[in-house]
Amino acid sequence: MSDGNHGAVKAAPARQSEGAGEAIMRGLRGRCPACGEGRMFRAFLKVAAQCPQCGEELHHHRADDFPAYLVIVIVGHILMPIVLLVETEVTPAVWISMTLWPLTALVMALGLLQPVKGAVVAIQWFGGMHGFEESKKGRAPTTAAEG
Ligand SMILES: [Zn+2]
Repeated sequence: MSDGNHGAVKAAPARQSEGAGEAIMRGLRGRCPACGEGRMFRAFLKVAAQCPQCGEELHHHRADDFPAYLVIVIVGHILMPIVLLVETEVTPAVWISMTLWPLTALVMALGLLQPVKGAVVAIQWFGGMHGFEESKKGRAPTTAAEG
């Protein structure tokens, strides 16, 4: 027991060195969470099967409706205080309100959907959720722990 070799080698997750924050930032920018270079999306909300740069399998994600729920929450929390403030302080004409707020909500939602979906996929990737864990095991060389 004097060789200092603890039995549990399991502790370190054998991912690239970056943490969850960096993976999420890459996802927000629509980039591959593994390399940060390749594009995550092959269309507006279609995630590429794999990263065109590093070949990381991205098709394992199951973002489903979650990005849309998040976008609704974010847009609602940003827009509602503004709407209440403007409607009580400025009181614009009805047709302006009926045009401005839906349009603003639409633009915000469309602008946020891809970054939020990218972040959700990056979180799933980082956490090894769904098939990401298996694809990680199949590829990662895992810096020889036993030397
Ligand atoms: Zn990549």
